[in-house]
Amino acid sequence: MPHESASPLAPATVAVSAGRPPRTPDGPLNPPLVMASTYHAGGEVGYGRYGNPTWEMLESAVGALEGGGVATSFASGVAAVSAVLDLVPPGGVVVAPPDAYYGSLRVLARMADQGRLSVRQADLTDPDAAAGAVEGADLVWVETPTNPMLKVVDLGRLATSCRAAGALLAVDSTFATPVLQQPLQLGADVVVHSATKFLSGHADLLLGVAVTADADLAARLVEVRSVLGALPGTFEAWLALRGLRTLHLRVERGSANAAELAARLARVPVVERVHYPGSGAMVAIELRAEAQAVELVCDSTDVWVHATSLGGVESSLERRRRWAGESMAVPETLLRLSVGVEDVDDLWADLLQALPRR
Ligand code: PLP
Repeated sequence: MPHESASPLAPATVAVSAGRPPRTPDGPLNPPLVMASTYHAGGEVGYGRYGNPTWEMLESAVGALEGGGVATSFASGVAAVSAVLDLVPPGGVVVAPPDAYYGSLRVLARMADQGRLSVRQADLTDPDAAAGAVEGADLVWVETPTNPMLKVVDLGRLATSCRAAGALLAVDSTFATPVLQQPLQLGADVVVHSATKFLSGHADLLLGVAVTADADLAARLVEVRSVLGALPGTFEAWLALRGLRTLHLRVERGSANAAELAARLARVPVVERVHYPGSGAMVAIELRAEAQAVELVCDSTDVWVHATSLGGVESSLERRRRWAGESMAVPETLLRLSVGVEDVDDLWADLLQALPRR
């Protein structure tokens, strides 16, 4: 960071300036890519599984973006999710919503099948129901906005309920990014990102990050990473930090495009329902059509890419129920749109010509 300032720096400034080497004459502005499996003996790290200077630069930037937490990077978003769920004591109770990224729910289901913990399902979008549901829980897992239904949770109220119940609140903030939402500032204990998505933003790597302001939780997350070995690749961490420099610009443009497309889609007769939480670059639409016709939309676009994943500079779309593991709560006719930074009129024209006529 350039200097200590009286008021906290805005996300745009943090994204550009955090996680850089010290300003020394002839020193590089950008972090070096330190490719090392081992280090000369006598230091504190010793071996590549216990730390890497390139990871640390990315981690300090993401921690700063989340308002000052300690970030730990992992091999993927799911590896970060797994490390956070490892914080639950054996036999503990996790409260989770019925619809969230299915990979995260799958980790939970697997841990439950193994008898490691038990899962209690609850609709966390209803603050009153959530307050009752978190009683007796060890950890509350929440995603907001959710993938792919874009449901939103009142994090401030949920954090109050979790604190009263003595439960940790873990928030997957992948869709919102720290530009639009900083869960630690709202009372969450841990924030998770699939940095594969918006944080890195170019669909060229897999990486996950977990951030917490609690030193004990941070140490436990690093321990899980070191012991189980779900380490980020060094080049991936370097690329992710390079991508992070434009996070605010990408989120700004993607959100403006998404808001415009959501408004236009709401006026198209074949579109039965638009899910858009009011900000962010993710939109979901339900179509008045057979699943097969919805699937065909994805193969009828030129600008939009038919691919899974999200959060890249390129706009992409997919019918989520094409995946066998997707929650039954997700309609067969739902298309998830990840809105990129292209020209909005080009995106609109391409999407409109691909939609079924009605
Ligand atoms: N969390 C959310 C909300 C996601 O959408 C995803 C992936 O799609 C993940 C976590 C998992 O991330 P990764 O694919 O980087 O393991």
